[in-house]
Amino acid sequence: MFEIIIVLLCGLFFGSFANVCIYRTPRELSVIKPRSHCTKCNKQITWYENIPVFSYIFLKAKCRGCGSKISIIYPIIEVTCAILFLLMYHLYGFSYILPVFCIFAFSMLVVTAIDFEFQIIPDEFSLLLVIVGFGTSFLNYNLGDAVLQRLLQSFIGFLVGGGSLYVVAVVGKWILKKEAMGGGDIKLMAGVGTFIGWEKVLLAIFIASLIGSIIGITLIVFKKIMKKDAIAFGPYLAAGSMITLFLPPPAVIINTILLFEEQLLLKLLIR
Ligand SMILES: [Zn+2]
Repeated sequence: MFEIIIVLLCGLFFGSFANVCIYRTPRELSVIKPRSHCTKCNKQITWYENIPVFSYIFLKAKCRGCGSKISIIYPIIEVTCAILFLLMYHLYGFSYILPVFCIFAFSMLVVTAIDFEFQIIPDEFSLLLVIVGFGTSFLNYNLGDAVLQRLLQSFIGFLVGGGSLYVVAVVGKWILKKEAMGGGDIKLMAGVGTFIGWEKVLLAIFIASLIGSIIGITLIVFKKIMKKDAIAFGPYLAAGSMITLFLPPPAVIINTILLFEEQLLLKLLIR
């Protein structure tokens, strides 16, 4: 119970920091200085006005300086971050790699929000992912049993994550005669690969394409977007990457499917 409360509080406070990153990074402002202030009247926000979720409720969603409305997005991001941290705790327990994967989940959340709003993925987060992912890969037991194996898997994940999307970008540009995949997406998946290895990074891209196609086609059918409109791929890549954390390695999935087919075939033959 104590552990859950610690993880929950960390999630809320990192969610609050995520809001700062989401607002400032695409505007090329520092995420450290100055202290948080109202985006309308510039009034500095005191510590008790800056408590995740509670301040939003306590201030009745209004700035104390100018009375302008505080967006509901802020507490939503905070709560989402807390939920993601709790999910990471569920997966990895109170272990060495819990903070590692909390940074991973935090980055996915921030990248999703920024790409959704600005259609860019700031290099800072991809770089952070590469440094943390590769730097801690020797601890990451998801990547293998031996330390050397983990380092190698992380490095290959980096190459395959970035490389496969680079190929998509080149081929896509050749066929569509326009930008098919942004440089930001390529760097993001290179970073993701250092955490989850090459098999899962491919699985993540596959899941992202699947979700992206379903949502894209739905939006086109309901005329919310035009066929030529560019849609940000980052949120799908981030979602796909997060989903793979909950799945067994792709080899196990394929084996299970094959085994299931084999049994099905056997049943049919016996009949
Ligand atoms: Zn204000």
